[in-house]
Amino acid sequence: MSTQVAHALPMMITEVTVAAVEQLSPSFVRVELASPELADFGIEGQPLLDQRIKLVFPNAAGELSSFAGADESWFGTWLQRPAEERGHMRTYTVRAVIGTGAETRVVVDIVVHEPPCGPGSTWARSAAVGDRLVLLGPRRGMAYGGIEFAPHAGAQELLLVADETALPAVAAILADLPDTAVGQVFLEVPVAADIQADLAAPPGIAVTWLPRDGAEHGTRILAAAGERLAVRAAAEPAALALAADDEIDPDLWETPEYSSSGEEISTGDARAAKKVLPGVYAWIAGESAMVTSLRRYLVKEVGIDRSQVAFMGYWRRGVAMRS
Ligand SMILES: Cc1cc2nc3c(=O)[nH]c(=O)nc-3n(C[C@H](O)[C@H](O)[C@H](O)COP(=O)(O)OP(=O)(O)OC[C@H]3O[C@@H](n4cnc5c(N)ncnc54)[C@H](O)[C@@H]3O)c2cc1C
Repeated sequence: MSTQVAHALPMMITEVTVAAVEQLSPSFVRVELASPELADFGIEGQPLLDQRIKLVFPNAAGELSSFAGADESWFGTWLQRPAEERGHMRTYTVRAVIGTGAETRVVVDIVVHEPPCGPGSTWARSAAVGDRLVLLGPRRGMAYGGIEFAPHAGAQELLLVADETALPAVAAILADLPDTAVGQVFLEVPVAADIQADLAAPPGIAVTWLPRDGAEHGTRILAAAGERLAVRAAAEPAALALAADDEIDPDLWETPEYSSSGEEISTGDARAAKKVLPGVYAWIAGESAMVTSLRRYLVKEVGIDRSQVAFMGYWRRGVAMRS
């Protein structure tokens, strides 16, 4: 007898309850989300890496949208509800999955950022055990996507660059890498007290923490990564400036598989392409001005092949996430 259950959607949309809350550091709140349905969470036989999910937060009256009976048109249907009723949907990363079966918990690290605070950050600030959210994520055995970390076949050296919003993704990627992995990680966080000294990484991966402690967002990354890249590309040291407003695509998402600017998708293996930073795979995520600056440098000045890089604008200063 078949035990397969038919689902209307290829992903999971489930109500979850906050089972634990921890203020990790001044800028991070960790929540553990629980639901018996999470027993089916994830992708069969695959590591989570930078797996993204969506969380739906309650509306101002504390009511949570119902997705009961959702079908392929779930997003349009949800958007059609009045904004003050439907609540707010935001994107986060699975920091870890703990437990098994009906006791499975999805762990998410949420940045409590400075004003103006959006609904995600505001919710995290006062998150409490028993709070309810809706989680959209991968259901085992079904295609979902949402993982961008994908080094090309010739990759021998990793470069991971992230601000605090992409720190959970980098932490999850590092946890899934083989012990033989080699590379550099640059992590910019709001203050020194946000440094996660116990971050696990393979011995060949050097992790550099860059607390801003009042410096402008992105500038510490640009200085450190620019210096490292110039050494690696045997180029003049680069003084990278933050991209100007009119240069920035707030939806910046350029990976070997997808281009928000409509660039041609790379089909070649980087080894066969231009011999620029050979063997390097770069994964860069965070505020769009910082990511745009590194993209401009790596693509236009250094000339790296797009099969070697993923540039992801996780958020844009002054712009609320849509929906
Ligand atoms: C694939 C992906 C994975 C992500 N993973 C995580 C994650 O694991 N943890 C996490 O915390 N975030 C993560 N983010 C970023 C998060 O979705 C955004 O920061 C989002 O804008 C937060 O929603 P909000 O409701 O707090 O703010 P919004 O309502 O979207 O924005 C309101 C205001 O807050 C500002 N703002 C938003 N984020 C920040 C910030 N970090 N610092 C300062 N100002 C900010 C905006 O510019 C805007 O002015 C991820 C984004 C993507 C695309």
